[in-house]
Amino acid sequence: MDYLYAPWRDTYFTEKVDGCVFCNLSTNPALDEKHHILYRDEYCFVVMNRYPYAPGHFMVIPHFHTNALEELDQKVWLHMSCIVQQSIMMLKVGLGAQGANIGMNLGKSGGAGIAEHVHYHIIPRWIGDTNFITTIANTRVYSTDFERIYLKLKDLVPKFISC
Ligand SMILES: [Zn+2]
Repeated sequence: MDYLYAPWRDTYFTEKVDGCVFCNLSTNPALDEKHHILYRDEYCFVVMNRYPYAPGHFMVIPHFHTNALEELDQKVWLHMSCIVQQSIMMLKVGLGAQGANIGMNLGKSGGAGIAEHVHYHIIPRWIGDTNFITTIANTRVYSTDFERIYLKLKDLVPKFISC
């Protein structure tokens, strides 16, 4: 039996944030666990996506607030790229992912949900990890517990991320 499982969404509706959601995550390291932060360093942080396209979907986000990728310091961009590359290794070796999607949606017209602060999506993929319900009902079915996959990834991060 499949379950429609989205317990993380309830905090999405009750938690109100003033200003930029990602800057709020960036500037509150004491709340990293609550916010499902996987990793942070001086340039960027890595956080689970509360609206995952697939289980294990997370994002690499610069601390610097900008909606324009071209405004990002190249040092920050290269650092983020390094983390993305190591994340793919982490997903393949640590999580057994068979593939992945990576990318950025820039601007509202580019499909960005939070367009004011650029962010890099990383999505592990397995054969058959999505099904027809996504296309017919605009609903996604997850077979993996959000909290459990967060803890598993958090455990893997120090073994794979060292940019
Ligand atoms: Zn921001």
